[in-house]
Amino acid sequence: MIAYAPCPKCSTAGAQRMKFTWWGGVLGPRILSHVKCPACGFAYNGKSGRENTAGIVIYCVLVGAVVMAFVVVLVAMMVLIAAAN
Ligand SMILES: [Zn+2]
Repeated sequence: MIAYAPCPKCSTAGAQRMKFTWWGGVLGPRILSHVKCPACGFAYNGKSGRENTAGIVIYCVLVGAVVMAFVVVLVAMMVLIAAAN
């Protein structure tokens, strides 16, 4: 059992790790040690004890960049296939 940092808002200990979030699915909260305070429900970084907002933004940008790169490659392949015929 890993003890997480106390809540930055109300200083309550015993935060629970979040298994799923709207912004990161299953992987995001695992990478960012995203935990939720049992008292006030505030979600934060269980390792640093600070807000995870910056980490979430970086995570979303990275995921967005990967998705964009995938779409660009897919479109480029379709264009190449169309040009070859
Ligand atoms: Zn709290």
